Amino acid sequence: MVEQDKIILAAEAANGIFYGMQTLLQMLLAEILGNSKIDLPLQIPCCFIEDKPRFGWRGMHLDVSRHFFGINFIKKYIDLLAMHKLNVFHWHLTDDNGWRIEIKKYPELTKTCGWRKNLEHLPWNVRDNPNDPGNGIYGGFYTQKEIKEIVKYAADRFIIVVPEIEMPGHSREVFAAFPQFSCRGEKLTVAPGGYWPNVDIFCAGKDETFEFLKNILLEVIELFPSQYIHIGGDEANKTRWKECPFCQQRIKDEKLKDVKELQSWFIKQIADFLQSKNKKLIGWDEIIDGGLIEDATVMCWRGDGIEAAKTAVQKGCDVIMCPNPYLYFDWKQNENDKGAFGVTTLEKVYNYDPVPQDFSQTEARHILGAQGNVWTEWMPSEASVEYMALPRMSALAELTWTFLENKNYPDFLKRLDKLVDIFSLKKINFNSEF
Ligand SMILES: [Zn+2]
Repeated sequence: MVEQDKIILAAEAANGIFYGMQTLLQMLLAEILGNSKIDLPLQIPCCFIEDKPRFGWRGMHLDVSRHFFGINFIKKYIDLLAMHKLNVFHWHLTDDNGWRIEIKKYPELTKTCGWRKNLEHLPWNVRDNPNDPGNGIYGGFYTQKEIKEIVKYAADRFIIVVPEIEMPGHSREVFAAFPQFSCRGEKLTVAPGGYWPNVDIFCAGKDETFEFLKNILLEVIELFPSQYIHIGGDEANKTRWKECPFCQQRIKDEKLKDVKELQSWFIKQIADFLQSKNKKLIGWDEIIDGGLIEDATVMCWRGDGIEAAKTAVQKGCDVIMCPNPYLYFDWKQNENDKGAFGVTTLEKVYNYDPVPQDFSQTEARHILGAQGNVWTEWMPSEASVEYMALPRMSALAELTWTFLENKNYPDFLKRLDKLVDIFSLKKINFNSEF
């Protein structure tokens, strides 16, 4: 509440005060940053705001495998989340193009699997010529000390960091140092660019694979206080599993129908392990394909995400919505933009509702919220990440925070003017043609 001579900020918990401060800063910051000499007193219109978020999961994701970003940028990214009252940072730490998290038990993961041939001068999708010597190596990783620093930095801003360790697919980089955990046992290179279809995945038939993954997860669990651990589960091509004697034996032993059920069985081993450590498993919506694991939380991304969400909530599972035509911020912002795939305009993001129209109230309760995903194949620099994320992150913030009856796109655009002034003054890159 702002009165003539005072501002009163009240909340049930500390995060409420923090969000109230963000609102105040949005009202004042452009004025403060824009003037070298500030005329006191600063003025805010008298007002009364009573506010609370619509969803508990208000997330942004960042892929640091396709391109690597150092911890200073990660902090800047977290600051952006905080400014938007978002409360989950989904950190996509491993993928075919580089392993980014130090695991003490397996130092080769970062020593070898964190680095690839540098073909940054070529577009992402034409980097498959094995004879191109490249320009040295490209990569990087976060030490456990740095990870702890980031987790604390985020927690100080009421943001939970959810780590993602990809399995069974998007794991080719691992086989640059640990070929024994793939079906063929063949030593591969870390992919320097697009790798599709991703046929080289963890072998589900070898017990050693699970021992390896569980040892990794033990360290991950120690580092991240998050209740949730994301294990990927997406886009695992089953070509190798179909030919692999170990995987076929597993299918027989476990009386599974096919490789789809083998994927579910794989995820179940990991889910049970996480549960034994009091953690919850999150996976991309492919984890429901061979039969859904109870207690898994599903991130719905394929198409409009509704079918997957329906299947998951009917089994009593929670879901997080991030359908790719709406909340994949690697999609272009307008026709002339650089970027992958289709076009997702600011307005399209803003108007997205995470709760499908025909969901009952009971079903809707399983929708924890939504998040924007930033896959970085086509984002080689920090500036390009900022450009693709902003101001769509601002629209995401409003669709996850604001109740439907208060949403209003023209009004959002008016307020966005002030916000982008703050981006400019803080030297944050953003797309100004929204
Ligand atoms: Zn196998």
